[in-house]
Amino acid sequence: MKAKNTKVLLIYTGGTIGMMQDAKTGELKPFNFNALKHQIPELNKFNTELHSISFEKPIDSSNMHPKTWVRIAEIISKNYIKYDGFVILHGSDTMSFTASALSFMLENLSKPVILTGSQLPIGIIRTDGKENLITAIEIASAKRNNKPIINEVCIYFEYKLYRGNRTFKYNSQHFDAFKSPNFQCLAEAGVEIVYNEHAFLKRQNKALKIHTVLDNDVAVLRLFPGISKKITSAIINTKGIKAVVLQTFGAGNATTDTWFIDLLKLAIKKGIFIVNQTQCVEGRVVQGLYETSTQLKKIGVISAKDLTFEATITKLMFLLGKKLNSKQLKTEFQKNICGELTE
Ligand code: ASP
Repeated sequence: MKAKNTKVLLIYTGGTIGMMQDAKTGELKPFNFNALKHQIPELNKFNTELHSISFEKPIDSSNMHPKTWVRIAEIISKNYIKYDGFVILHGSDTMSFTASALSFMLENLSKPVILTGSQLPIGIIRTDGKENLITAIEIASAKRNNKPIINEVCIYFEYKLYRGNRTFKYNSQHFDAFKSPNFQCLAEAGVEIVYNEHAFLKRQNKALKIHTVLDNDVAVLRLFPGISKKITSAIINTKGIKAVVLQTFGAGNATTDTWFIDLLKLAIKKGIFIVNQTQCVEGRVVQGLYETSTQLKKIGVISAKDLTFEATITKLMFLLGKKLNSKQLKTEFQKNICGELTE
């Protein structure tokens, strides 16, 4: 399946995979890419030409920022023609945010962009990093009929390839750290890599277009029984915010207290875009299913359907960056742009 003469670019951003223990403090800190390569001699055995670009200062992914996503998107765009696929080495903590953001930023992607990392540093004997990196490279170089098999932004972790914008990190200790609750995985690696081709995004035959303007004026209001008016009002009335992710219960339900509905109504009137995203990790928001979400629908809260939290936040940043009017924003948010939601 793997064609000869493939070229893959590794983009090393940091994360546990490339960390070492500080001798004095015992803390895990990122180290440079050459030291990482040295730990995996198998990389020299690939039938694929591997090149790498490393952040001069590798980071723990908790320090990721939309600016870093732009930097990664620009590296991909600059090298797009030269390479058959891209592997991004990234910390697992915010990997799903980066994967979701890139899926919106890289329009018409027709090559694989695979994010991977590990739970244990590469220098540790029981590391999961070697398998993750080796198989991610294998997938990034895989072709059929001279075309890349994968043409989307994915996460490869612990024998599974996921659509990136459907994932979230659910476990901080297991090697199996990611879940894609509302969408099947794109491939499973056993003795062979078995691809679920019917689940792939439709291939685009257009030139890659990157979007680099992201707007982070987004707030999150996570509901809990007893949430106060004071807190709700402080979040919703934060100066300058353009959108609020309302994290609701179950199928998109919230308190029907008048003060709560009135605060939301006023915010919507002022032009703040409010979306309803469930705290449940599986399933979807159906506004109007229960009495406790009917009001939300009536006042103009928009359903995030089965979007993950990560995809909701990054989709908002991406759409707000386009400076759409409120009608366009509503339409675009509810659209399936790159496989992130089920209509
Ligand atoms: N804190 C690390 C990071 O996200 C964890 C990891 O890589 O798994 O960079």
